[in-house]
Amino acid sequence: MNCNNCSSKISYLYLLGSYLKSFSYEDVKCPGCGDTYSVTFFSRAVFSLFIMLPSYFFSKLSFSFKQIFIINVVYLISIILSMPFILRLKKASTEI
Ligand SMILES: [Zn+2]
Repeated sequence: MNCNNCSSKISYLYLLGSYLKSFSYEDVKCPGCGDTYSVTFFSRAVFSLFIMLPSYFFSKLSFSFKQIFIINVVYLISIILSMPFILRLKKASTEI
């Protein structure tokens, strides 16, 4: 995505780093102008579904505990890597 304010590019890796630094939906600062963006409530909700639903389905599969554990780990890693695509940002100043 690009910053609305200074239109400098906010890269995938920069976003991922911002999310992982805090392990939360910390506000993201534009590397260009320092403008603050926050993650929208809707995309947080979608992201929680992505985290919770699959572990429920995985537990229904007739795999061994070890296999389910591995599937969960692989899934969580791929979900974490796709955080910048799932989470949507908006300008923090527009938040009420
Ligand atoms: Zn900016």
